[in-house]
Amino acid sequence: MTFIIDPPPQVSVAVRGSDSRFPVRRVYCVGRNYEAHAREMGKDPTREPPFMFQKPADAVIEGGSVIAYPPQTGNFHHEIELVVAIARGGRNIGVDRANEHVFGYAVGIDLTRRDLQLAARDAGRPWEWGKAFDHSAPCAPIVRAAEIGHPSKGRIWLSVNGSVKQDADISQLIWSVPEVIAFVSASMALAPGDLIFTGTPAGVGPLVTGDAVTGGIDGIGEIGIRIGPSQG
Ligand code: MN
Repeated sequence: MTFIIDPPPQVSVAVRGSDSRFPVRRVYCVGRNYEAHAREMGKDPTREPPFMFQKPADAVIEGGSVIAYPPQTGNFHHEIELVVAIARGGRNIGVDRANEHVFGYAVGIDLTRRDLQLAARDAGRPWEWGKAFDHSAPCAPIVRAAEIGHPSKGRIWLSVNGSVKQDADISQLIWSVPEVIAFVSASMALAPGDLIFTGTPAGVGPLVTGDAVTGGIDGIGEIGIRIGPSQG
């Protein structure tokens, strides 16, 4: 078979301790999955069903990258998140079996054009333009569950220019990783290559050109990015 244009490259994420990479199919993201972050966004943090959005696979970019300050925003935010990499797909996956579908875990940042997201939210429009833009999903190497198990606690933090902005624990997730896997797979078939960004704790805030951003989750790893000049 030939293609009329060159097919797009397969997006992938590094795997710690391996020369092989994890190919990305879809990127699911959970909205408001830590109470203190729901409150800082002006929302009630009660345990209502989770809600999801997606980013395109090619929004994923390696940790260590310089990311250009994106267009059409004056309020470009960091959101440090636990990322889950799915190795086995399925529909209607039970909470008790969900971990069997996980390849591993990584540290990611859900970069957000907050002004566009909130304007869309308040107008009842999709969040997509605020969330699903180029290079909006930096992701550090995936650590295999076979190596570290399925962590349910551990410090999650993010610093900007050495100043800690987000500092919480993944045990504070309103909806746990198995519950999120069950929720997504009840609505869409999960498949190998899917990533799930599980939501951010409190302390989100703006980034500007020149910022050095570092973050991590104990037992899973660390990520660093720099914000470069706008490309116009
Ligand atoms: Mn997020």
